[in-house]
Amino acid sequence: METNIKQDKVIVICAPSGSGKTSIYNQLLIDIPVLAKSISAATRKPRGSEVSGVDYYFMSLANFESKKDNNEFVEWERVYEGKLYGTLKSEIARINALGKIPILDIDVKGAQSIKEIYGDNALIIFIKAPIENIKERLEKRGTDSAEDIQTRLDRLPEELTYEGKSDVVVENIVLADAQKESKQVIEKFIGIAA
Ligand code: 5GP
Repeated sequence: METNIKQDKVIVICAPSGSGKTSIYNQLLIDIPVLAKSISAATRKPRGSEVSGVDYYFMSLANFESKKDNNEFVEWERVYEGKLYGTLKSEIARINALGKIPILDIDVKGAQSIKEIYGDNALIIFIKAPIENIKERLEKRGTDSAEDIQTRLDRLPEELTYEGKSDVVVENIVLADAQKESKQVIEKFIGIAA
């Protein structure tokens, strides 16, 4: 349990890869201006048009490990073999200093770590989508190799077990409905009248 993290509110969107999480997440950033994207540190290479400092803080494994050893992360996970992702304490502090509420797009295990630290000040939203839709989305987005897609699908059964550990489960069958529901849940949590 961390003791030096300011106990402001924090929102986490988690879901297996391909659940439509990113679409929902990006829309929430537009719809709720008090939210700010928490930019994670990651050791994977940028994909497509991704930019360091915008999409992720891309860094070498050595740099990540050194930050880990210095206790600079709120949470971190080896999400995929050899690929580490983490939320930096400095990132949460940066957002808090702006008077905003961080919204994290992190994996299911990282979400649990945030819950342990923040308790009732954290809202963990799990996005649930039908497996057929997940497969289709992964194949259609065209950014991942066949091997990457398989890696993501392999993680699915374990990730789905985290549904019950979340504060709220939003079903993504019709994207617009899932976006609306997520927005309402967050507005209630942060005390914005709908
Ligand atoms: P991608 O490589 O597709 O951008 O992300 C892979 C996975 O890593 C996603 O499920 C994403 O939510 C997760 N992820 C991104 N940043 C973090 C982080 O800071 N911590 C944890 N635990 N997971 C993260």
